[in-house]
Amino acid sequence: MKIREVNVNRFIAKSKVFGVDFVINPYVGCPNACLYCYASFLRNLKGYKEEWGTFLDVKKTNYKLKKMSVEGKSYLMSSSTDCYNLYEEKYEITRNILKQLVNFKFSLRIETKNSLILRDIDLLKKMYDVKVIISLNTLNQEFSRGIESCSPIKSRLETIKKLAENKIKVIVAISPIFPFLTDYKEIILKTLDEATEYIFEFLNLKSTPVKKKVLKYINEKYPEYYLEYAKIYLFNDNTYFMNLKKEISLFCDKLHIKYTFK
Ligand code: SF4
Repeated sequence: MKIREVNVNRFIAKSKVFGVDFVINPYVGCPNACLYCYASFLRNLKGYKEEWGTFLDVKKTNYKLKKMSVEGKSYLMSSSTDCYNLYEEKYEITRNILKQLVNFKFSLRIETKNSLILRDIDLLKKMYDVKVIISLNTLNQEFSRGIESCSPIKSRLETIKKLAENKIKVIVAISPIFPFLTDYKEIILKTLDEATEYIFEFLNLKSTPVKKKVLKYINEKYPEYYLEYAKIYLFNDNTYFMNLKKEISLFCDKLHIKYTFK
């Protein structure tokens, strides 16, 4: 892993994410190295030579947040990295940002796959309006290991539980939904007591390099589904996801679950 400590003027950027005013990305790059990562385009955009998942820029700054610029706004941490990636344990960039944010009245969503977030429960409990989004798209450890190199399923389920026990609102993001492989019902039933809501996001393979990698993986590991994936991702047939969206809505409505599609 190539680690660089870089000095930046600020760590906040205007958001392109719907419903969010600002995004905070304490790092550039992401050691989680998910096979399907949508943020991996940043590697080419910013001219990095290393493969996505093999470099990390640690953002260092003396920037101080001002009450006027924060209060009443909505923030997402993070949109293109995991702010609790394993290097956060050493650098504490995310923790130091939270120490500043804890003083203001605003809405914060923190998205992660890693249990390191539990280290910061003391700060999360003091936040005015915080929700933690834990991404989980399977309970099958073998499948998960093939597409993500971060925390095991068991650890994510325990993290969800501990956050809920500490009265911190948890959103489970069933994301990305891999056709025929993500069992959304199983995930909901496992987390129903802790999650306050769910986000569903279908696997999007708009980036050609990511599409190639994912289709190669499916062909090697799950060849029985390859033709179905080809139909969806090579011939743009949306039928599977249209039907699934109806099915998910019916299931969630029946259980009176709060949910959104991303
Ligand atoms: S955790 Fe998110 S940003 Fe990191 S590699 Fe996975 S999808 Fe990309």
